[in-house]
Amino acid sequence: MNCTHCKSDKVVKNGYRLGKQSYLCRSCHRQFRENPQPQSYSAEVKELCVKMSLNGMGFRSIERVTGINHNSVINWVRQAAEAIPDENHEIPETAHA
Ligand SMILES: [Zn+2]
Repeated sequence: MNCTHCKSDKVVKNGYRLGKQSYLCRSCHRQFRENPQPQSYSAEVKELCVKMSLNGMGFRSIERVTGINHNSVINWVRQAAEAIPDENHEIPETAHA
């Protein structure tokens, strides 16, 4: 593994981000990811973003946590909502304030 910025081989593992190994270059002190694929996210990442939204996280918060543009997240949540069958939209009648 070499740094994608300066091609140095003095790189160290720097944790995982969005399921990909992240690296830190000790020569130029920049971070990079293995096989960067911008705008291409796995089904797992999409599902995670949708779950965060359903648990009350705002789209901007999700963007800050995952680094994914909030417009992408909004689209995924919209797609997920359309995929849910009608019977799951029932609101419990026992829910009184
Ligand atoms: Zn470097």
